[in-house]
Amino acid sequence: MKHFTYERASDRTDAITQVAANPQAKFIAGGTNFMDMWKEGVETPERLIDIRKFPGEITVTDGTLRLDATTTNSQVAYHSQVRDRYPVLSEAILAGASPQLRNMATTGGNLMQRNRCSYFHDVSYPCNKRVPNSGCPAIEGINRMHAIFGTSDRCIAAHPSDMCVALAALGAVVQTRKPDGETRNIAFKDFHLLPGDTPHIETALEHGELIEAVEIPPLPWAKRSHYLKVRDRHSYAYALVSAAVALEIEGDKIVNARVAMGGVGTKPWRSPEAENALIGAKNNEESFIAAASAALEGAKPYQYNVFKIELAQSTLVQALLTVNSEQ
Ligand SMILES: Cc1cc2nc3c(=O)[nH]c(=O)nc-3n(C[C@H](O)[C@H](O)[C@H](O)COP(=O)(O)OP(=O)(O)OC[C@H]3O[C@@H](n4cnc5c(N)ncnc54)[C@H](O)[C@@H]3O)c2cc1C
Ligand code: SF4
Repeated sequence: MKHFTYERASDRTDAITQVAANPQAKFIAGGTNFMDMWKEGVETPERLIDIRKFPGEITVTDGTLRLDATTTNSQVAYHSQVRDRYPVLSEAILAGASPQLRNMATTGGNLMQRNRCSYFHDVSYPCNKRVPNSGCPAIEGINRMHAIFGTSDRCIAAHPSDMCVALAALGAVVQTRKPDGETRNIAFKDFHLLPGDTPHIETALEHGELIEAVEIPPLPWAKRSHYLKVRDRHSYAYALVSAAVALEIEGDKIVNARVAMGGVGTKPWRSPEAENALIGAKNNEESFIAAASAALEGAKPYQYNVFKIELAQSTLVQALLTVNSEQ
């Protein structure tokens, strides 16, 4: 086991300065994702800077919901404003991990969690994400859990988060602070990167850049929203596929729609194709089936995950039917 040092940062500036000063340093929040990979030998930092004790507040200003990066997953999922205004977010978080893990896991850590590809987690295999240009055994190997959108010939790992699928659908914004003091507002769609030729670069963050908060802009009609996750067992399992949907309905017409999918993309997968098919259509099953077909166009399955196309379509249709039945 590689020796490392641990320090609790006094404030955000201290944390950023300490991580930026050492290319082998990392932030640690709840530790639920990091500790697994440290024990596996996948993560080998020299220095850990603990940020978990920073204030973790949830506030609403002019209709915008702000989640400090250190809010816990439980705190967010059970907050009255989240449950009332964005049920899809609460449901997505509660569909993940276990109560104990959600009590420790943070918003920032959830965004930064790494993938569940078994070759990535076993250091006896090559993996382009872990060791650039070493190869990707998943492409010709056991790829049942892997992605069907956004893949490259370097990496096909699916993004594992449930919470991020809801945040993608809601058009969240990630607020960060860089080591030079500059703050950034990163649109959620730009936060996670496609693997391309550099699968080891997973997000838009620079080394030492801290996520300070996630903001969800006002979206009053997202009260009518839902998250549906399909997995191998009912709890403590990552998504095979999932769907986050929100609909605004007037009369028998859909006037606004948000759709994102989990378990299918190398990043949380928003589907403008499905949204465009829904907006202006009648709110009935026929429209939902057409939207699900549009959402899965262009999917590129591998040997063991062809089933994800049909499963994702039916999951999306079921999620839309559920939202449509809500008053
Ligand atoms: C058994 C198990 C089952 C799980 N099942 C699910 C599931 O079904 N669905 C799901 O979505 N998730 C699941 N998870 C993942 C879980 O949600 C994540 O482990 C958790 O959200 C990570 O948060 P954390 O605060 O513990 O992050 P940490 O482990 O502390 O950190 C993870 C990474 O985030 C970085 N980081 C943390 N905070 C910041 C910040 N503010 N700015 C910049 N970088 C930061 C760290 O440097 C580290 O690289 C599961 C985890 C486990 C262990
Ligand atoms: S799919 Fe990605 S994470 Fe998995 S072995 Fe290939 S390069 Fe590594």
